[in-house]
Amino acid sequence: MYIKTEGIVLKTVKYSEKDLIITVFTKKIGKISFYGKGLRTSKNKTASAVQLFSFNEFLLKKNGNNYTVSSIDPIKNYFDISKDIDRFFIGTYILKLISLVTYENQTNNRLFELLLNTLDILLDVDIKKLNFLIRAFEIQLMNYIGIKPNLNRCTNCNSKDLKNAKFSPSSGGVLCQKCVKTSFDSLNIDASNIKLIEFILKYRLEDILKAKVSNILLDELKIINTRHLADHLDGYNFKDMNLNNF
Ligand SMILES: [Zn+2]
Repeated sequence: MYIKTEGIVLKTVKYSEKDLIITVFTKKIGKISFYGKGLRTSKNKTASAVQLFSFNEFLLKKNGNNYTVSSIDPIKNYFDISKDIDRFFIGTYILKLISLVTYENQTNNRLFELLLNTLDILLDVDIKKLNFLIRAFEIQLMNYIGIKPNLNRCTNCNSKDLKNAKFSPSSGGVLCQKCVKTSFDSLNIDASNIKLIEFILKYRLEDILKAKVSNILLDELKIINTRHLADHLDGYNFKDMNLNNF
């Protein structure tokens, strides 16, 4: 059976002297890995199309549970991201995060479009906006994988009184002053950050990035986002992502 689908290369791993294992987030069949025979050493068009940040149309053949690639037509590459160390760093973080939250046979068109849109913006966004881009990407990703933070009411008791509320990753949202007392993982969340998350959930990245946001708020948001995602990803250690500067 043949399947034609668009896909973005998330990861390549050396398999042998000449061969690669390539992981791709596809539009039609979710995340898949396939064997790229001879692609490690070859210098042809196909070999360049399986590098990180490549966006292609793949013709795949399914044999049992495995896929082999019959042809690859490049649509666009984002290789220029690699020209700047910070953009490259952010780009690989984005691909890694997508890889962590996607599965075979689970399509997610909104996440696919978010990835393409983020890579487009990453190519030439002002370097000072990189941390804002990352935080906005993380929040939209949360929404598209079904873990949108609950911000309007206390996640535990439904109270609308959110004075001195905190964010609890294990509860998936904010807790009121009363419920915070019984929480073991509550994090500070500034009222402006509640508004900022709601704003990010409503608009497109290119419009969101026009807003001016202080680094203090973004630093707080980084803790909230990574802890919330880590909770969803069974305690994945975001320290491994080395997000120190972002
Ligand atoms: Zn409560």
